[in-house]
Amino acid sequence: MSTQRLKVILNADSDYDIRVGVGVLDTFASRLRDETDAEKAVVITDSNVGPLYLERVREGLTQAGFEAFDLTVPAGEESKSIAVASELWEALALLGLGRDGLIVGLGGGVAGDLAGFVASTYMRGVDCVQVPTTLLAMVDSSIGGKTGVNLVAGKNLVGTFKQPIHVLADLETLRTLPTEEWDNGFAEIAKSALIDGPEFYQWLEGNAEALLAHDEEITQQAIVRALTFKARVVASDVTEKGQRECLNYGHTFAHALEAASGFRISHGRAVAEGMRFAARLAVEAVGAPAAFADAQDALLNRLGLQPITEAFSADELYGRMFSDKKVRKGALRFVLAQAPGQWESVAVDPDLVKIYLILWEQAKM
Ligand code: ADP
Ligand code: ZN
Repeated sequence: MSTQRLKVILNADSDYDIRVGVGVLDTFASRLRDETDAEKAVVITDSNVGPLYLERVREGLTQAGFEAFDLTVPAGEESKSIAVASELWEALALLGLGRDGLIVGLGGGVAGDLAGFVASTYMRGVDCVQVPTTLLAMVDSSIGGKTGVNLVAGKNLVGTFKQPIHVLADLETLRTLPTEEWDNGFAEIAKSALIDGPEFYQWLEGNAEALLAHDEEITQQAIVRALTFKARVVASDVTEKGQRECLNYGHTFAHALEAASGFRISHGRAVAEGMRFAARLAVEAVGAPAAFADAQDALLNRLGLQPITEAFSADELYGRMFSDKKVRKGALRFVLAQAPGQWESVAVDPDLVKIYLILWEQAKM
């Protein structure tokens, strides 16, 4: 299985490489040398990932001639805070990282979002490399350039757009990833396939079991497909004004559900449930065939993303949907699909949404 290289081309003077393969962690640093003149490189990681992979990354950086440092934050969503970002800014200054320095984000979405946020703000922005170690981060958050920290009022409410200069996904790191973390990646892969179109969707239907079994070759193919799709979408809409909305498929409902559960329900499980909800809403809102919802259900089930069994109040979910930061001018917009690749972003009558939320709640009781 060889390393695959993709290029994200944002515009004429901004592009970067993504490498996906086994063992890329050991070889990436020497390649970086062609892309940066940085003398110092600071790896930002978390307390779970650091003990597993930090040494290899530091070793590579040192061998490539960087003076390497590392900063470790506690694992967990709580680290995505302005308080932790502020500690990192201070630490970077103490390490003497200059405007030409390099930051490497090593870990899942938490380390990546935090490292990207700090890199985009420290000294008005220094270069950043993303080394995602969760399937979710590999297929989703590590590219697209969104960074952020959470507020008490909600997740990711403060952030920036910061494109990395390089992204490296080493499949070997997934060997230590807890099983439940794979679900998050599977849901985003299913979402990507569904929005991308029949080719990816059928591939996923044909490889769902292998993916569920963590087959490395198939996982690599899934990552490359999802990234190719996302890179194309991001390139067409860097700052999220239009086309990029499709990435939000299943997410309006998912964000409400995650919050209503106090984040007990994982992002992936919530997205899968949100896709189920969207497919049903699409029957009424855009005339989608009911068979589409059934086919999508079957695929999600095969990826181990069974429907959630717990009921949450329709009223509460409805209220939370309206407080989502993506609500525009009081209209609830949903990305709705009728078939793989056929999606549209529609303002749905809030009363119709309410009805479907009540039906959803009743079905769970
Ligand atoms: P994401 O947002 O991508 O799901 P998080 O940063 O929340 O990622 O990571 C989820 C959990 O998995 C965290 O506890 C993190 O420390 C841990 N983790 C991340 N990558 C790995 C890995 N390769 N092996 C083991 N644990 C990991
Ligand atoms: Zn998502």
